[in-house]
Amino acid sequence: MTGSTRWTWFFGGGQADGGAADRPLLGGKGANLAEMTRLGIPVPPGFTISTDACAEAAASGRWPQGLQEQVRESLARLERLTERRFGDPARPLLVSVRSGAAVSMPGMMDTILNLGLTEATLPGLADGGDARFGWDSYRRLVQMLGDVVLGIPHHLFEERLDEVRRAAGAASDAQLSAADLQKLVARYKMLVREATGRPFPDDPFEQLRLSVDAVFQSWNNPRAVTYRKLHDIRGLRGTAVNVQAMVFGNRNDASATGVCFTRNPSTGENRFYGEFLQNAQGEDVVAGIRTPRPIEEIDTLLPGMLGQLLAIKDRLEQHYRDMQDVEFTVEDGRLYMLQTRTGKRTAAAAVRIAVDMVAEGQIDEDAAVRRVEPASLDQLLHPGFDPAAVRRVVAHGLPASPGAACGQVVFDAAAAEAAAAGGPVILVRTETSPEDIGGMHVAQGILTARGGMTSHAAVVARGMGKCCVSGCGELSVARDGSRGRLGEHELKPGDWLSLDGSTGEVMLGRVPMVEPQLSGDFAKLMAWADERRRLRVRTNADTPEDARRARAFGAEGIGLCRTEHMFFAEDRIAAVRRMILADNERQRQAALDELLPAQREDFIGIFTAMDGLPVTIRLLDPPLHEFLPQEADQQEALARSLGWQPAAVADRVRQLSEQNPMLGLRGCRLGILHPDIYDMQVRAIFLAAGHCELAGLSVIPEIMIPLVGVTPELSWLRQRILEREPELRKASGFKGRVLIGTMIEVPRAALTAASIAAHADFFSFGTNDLTQMGLGLSRDDTGPVIAHYVEHGLLERDPFASIDVEGVGRLVHLATAEGRGAKPHLKVGVCGEHGGDPASIRFFDRVGLDYVSCSPFRVPIARLAAAQAALEARARG
Ligand code: PEP
Ligand code: MG
Repeated sequence: MTGSTRWTWFFGGGQADGGAADRPLLGGKGANLAEMTRLGIPVPPGFTISTDACAEAAASGRWPQGLQEQVRESLARLERLTERRFGDPARPLLVSVRSGAAVSMPGMMDTILNLGLTEATLPGLADGGDARFGWDSYRRLVQMLGDVVLGIPHHLFEERLDEVRRAAGAASDAQLSAADLQKLVARYKMLVREATGRPFPDDPFEQLRLSVDAVFQSWNNPRAVTYRKLHDIRGLRGTAVNVQAMVFGNRNDASATGVCFTRNPSTGENRFYGEFLQNAQGEDVVAGIRTPRPIEEIDTLLPGMLGQLLAIKDRLEQHYRDMQDVEFTVEDGRLYMLQTRTGKRTAAAAVRIAVDMVAEGQIDEDAAVRRVEPASLDQLLHPGFDPAAVRRVVAHGLPASPGAACGQVVFDAAAAEAAAAGGPVILVRTETSPEDIGGMHVAQGILTARGGMTSHAAVVARGMGKCCVSGCGELSVARDGSRGRLGEHELKPGDWLSLDGSTGEVMLGRVPMVEPQLSGDFAKLMAWADERRRLRVRTNADTPEDARRARAFGAEGIGLCRTEHMFFAEDRIAAVRRMILADNERQRQAALDELLPAQREDFIGIFTAMDGLPVTIRLLDPPLHEFLPQEADQQEALARSLGWQPAAVADRVRQLSEQNPMLGLRGCRLGILHPDIYDMQVRAIFLAAGHCELAGLSVIPEIMIPLVGVTPELSWLRQRILEREPELRKASGFKGRVLIGTMIEVPRAALTAASIAAHADFFSFGTNDLTQMGLGLSRDDTGPVIAHYVEHGLLERDPFASIDVEGVGRLVHLATAEGRGAKPHLKVGVCGEHGGDPASIRFFDRVGLDYVSCSPFRVPIARLAAAQAALEARARG
């Protein structure tokens, strides 16, 4: 090696300078080529130029000192090993150049083949035999180098190829003769001269230098930069460059090229899975010009080849202990492996492979739990689009609630309810409000033009396990709800639309769906996760149906039952409105008395579904005006039903409306100014608990006060409940324990947690409001701000989707520590949306919360994420 820094790492002849552990320096491809060489797997020899060399070259605009000499030395070593020489007319060595960063990353320059081929070396390649093979290889080189290195538009090469094909009367490239291809090379070279003002580089070293430079530069091309940003890839220095002796899958009919997975990447089945093309190069497989054949058939053309491939497959899997995605080439009957890497897979395959590998003794249960991406479990829980289906994507929004939905467009909730009996509908709105609950419930999916990840539409849809795409900027809906636009497409009621809530894609038409399968493997993996996690997992559920579903997904209680949704039910809303509009105490009490039995029934349903598990019921939270109709015609209808003048209703609505409702008369403030509402709810809780207890159920109610900011708010409300408790126990007969706790969702409450804890049996962090108030960012309106900030690096990620550890997280940490300082056994959980986000769960585990609570469909995700967090904690020691 020349110079003090090693820039090139050799592999070949059963030895390699590097190995799998050198991934940061050699990139994924280079590290695995070295590793396979060490394992004795046949790999064409070559060398890897390190990612450090790329970083140095990008910084200075020149190759780092010593690189040129090391490349020459490595080439000389390659020449000795292959018994060929770079630029030698008799036995020329040809090489490929490929990029490869430490993380697989499309967007960079990919591959150039056949470097070292020149007018002089061409006869040597053909070995005096197949001239057509020689000219075909040469034209591929001129085209690839001309396109990706010299920047000549691809279509200009294609046009010349078409001309030659037409002149020869050939239907495909394969029918071109050696003479045709020779003519084509001449035209290509002329094109290079015209486009660049210089002849095509006919010196092998020049070809190599230009190609390596092009790979270095491609690290910073806009596509690669954007990809890194989108996928949050940080801390990498550059890409490595792999220079490797060429092997030819297109040399003759005893040659082939193929791509395989060691197991089926869609289902996880432990069966070698792949395809190949005879007498072809890798790019022909990708180009899709010829249809590849299943790998099982390779023995009919190349006897014994399947056995060799299977032996290598076993060796690779045993070594890497994971499913591999491999590329191979057969040259004149000899097999070479060109690449191996961890194979991408569906969630179903990930679960099956992890469980199977434990059974095979390849990995232990900890590794299996660590290996499956929690968020990917979504794919298993919701019906999904058929992966084979064609998608006509016309717009994008936020992936607010996962799943796939397909239905006919409706523009308002009432229309949704009317149309749903006739078939699936998609509710398309500018934004949703509590009045839309009924329509959202019956819709397959929800699409909104406005709103972020914690907007009403997003939160409610996730709670319902319903697909939702929110904040779709390309959508507009006419004010009268008669039509809409999606980008350049007109949208009418009844049009078919498909939504992918996991990607935010909006598609015209009906994309076919497939039902989810929760296999035995899924249950097994989840049992392993449960054995390992410390955090308990509860659910946010407002209906018995949601509660049952969440329990089936493994929820260990309800962490948040939002009672306001119950007030919107058709049989309640009239009484709720009468309660709000009441002129005097008597009228108000009459309305509340009407609501009491309904509310009691709600709680009976939920306690029954959650028999034996804790149920946290939050007393009413939203501002009252949300329950009143905003539109004139609805206000008139309400006035008629009350025997009022329409103007009186309109006046009252105006009176109740606030400039800043999120900071107004809501939460515990409502409970203090209108205590009879909370009295009714508490009474309903006791009556329902008593009823269920009598029926033999085990009821564990927890009453939760929202939006506490100062200690007296909590102490006053708690005292009021305690004063009534003896009478409530007598009336209900309930004997079990009732906890009274608070949400911590106002920053001041977090900062004064020690004082608040004295009056609370538990804390539950409402991280949606805590984020809103902690950052001063509206959870409903700031989607575009957040998107802009994330895109430009002002925020790392959406703080409503994943907890802002540094700021809001600090409030959570501090409040937990100080709350427990005052009351050591204080139970602490979280019920904001972050309770279902794997990265946030890792944080909640670290700061010692007792449980997370999330929407039903995120319960399995949270269980797995909590297990991974516990394994991480154990590894930290
Ligand atoms: C919260 O603020 O985090 C919370 C759970 O309450 P809501 O989303 O109902 O305001
Ligand atoms: Mg809240």
